[in-house]
Amino acid sequence: PFEVLVVGGGPAGAAAAIYAARKGIRTGVAAERFGGQVLDTMDIENFISVSRTEGPKLASALEAHVKDYDVEVMNLQKAAKLIPARTEGGYHEVVLENGASLKGRTVILSTGARWRQMGVPGEDEYRNKGVAYCPHCDGPLFKGKRVAVIGGGNSGVEAAIDLAGIVAHVTLIEYDSQLRADAVLQRKLASLPNVKIITSAMTTQVIGNGEKVTGLSYKDRNHGTEHDVELEGIFVQIGLVPNTEWLKDAIALSPRGEIEIDVRGETSQPGIFAAGDCTTVPYKQIVIAMGAGSTAGLSAFDYLIRLPAT
Ligand code: FAD
Repeated sequence: PFEVLVVGGGPAGAAAAIYAARKGIRTGVAAERFGGQVLDTMDIENFISVSRTEGPKLASALEAHVKDYDVEVMNLQKAAKLIPARTEGGYHEVVLENGASLKGRTVILSTGARWRQMGVPGEDEYRNKGVAYCPHCDGPLFKGKRVAVIGGGNSGVEAAIDLAGIVAHVTLIEYDSQLRADAVLQRKLASLPNVKIITSAMTTQVIGNGEKVTGLSYKDRNHGTEHDVELEGIFVQIGLVPNTEWLKDAIALSPRGEIEIDVRGETSQPGIFAAGDCTTVPYKQIVIAMGAGSTAGLSAFDYLIRLPAT
């Protein structure tokens, strides 16, 4: 059994494991895919103090740093169920999909999130070649170009406002007959000269020239007509889904499925902490996930040293 069992091997989990291991306590990391979303990222330009790096490079650096310490890394292990300890200071159990189970006196959940995809032809082919999901990450790459934002909820409208300040022109495409974002955001968006809003529109295809995105097609849902828009970038903003389906019965989740944590990273169950994109933390970014993972690692240690001696 572990003193600190981390579930998830992205930036948050790696940071949690390093902070815990540096306290000299028995630490393990179980991850479905060590590296997490970073593995799917091309250029990273906002990892502070590093002007520019690439996802796979950062992912290997994360793994190498964790392995500098006495951490048991269990890669390709998917957690299926969490059974919190029945008594304070007892072991929590994490049951893996393969039936095995791991125990930790504290558990740090850092299973991240995934962007909901449109599921249209061209989306996969042109991911990172014009199809993007994170305006904070990739917005500046489209400086002076034309882009679309797919989705008129809060995140889509925020992204459109953000991008309008960087790119030449933004087309916001919403499936419904009206935007769903807060009124104040909609007013702000409507005031911008370089934004066009198209409602009742279903994106049907990402168009490219084999190397990068050159446009998209959408269907007007009122008239059934097909239209093309010429552009260089498409930001898909139809939801970030936390990887927390397996935790529903064990700990408190927000209505969006995010793990509720306090400022110390503790969940509704004593001794169970969480960090990164799977939590209610407001912004989902690498440096933020690393900071949150470090907080959770230190909080787990703090919890352990306060347990009565057995
Ligand atoms: P993740 O990176 O999602 O890691 C989650 C970990 O948990 C993975 O190891 C996963 O395999 C594992 N896991 C999930 N479910 C289970 C389970 N049931 N059992 C066991 N393990 C599980 N951020 C930036 O700051 N800058 C950027 O430029 C940037 N670009 C991005 C580009 C793309 C294409 C994407 C998708 C994201 C980008 N981000 C960027 C966001 C950034 O990658 C995330 O904020 C960050 O990776 C979150 O870290 P995390 O550790 O919380 O979660």
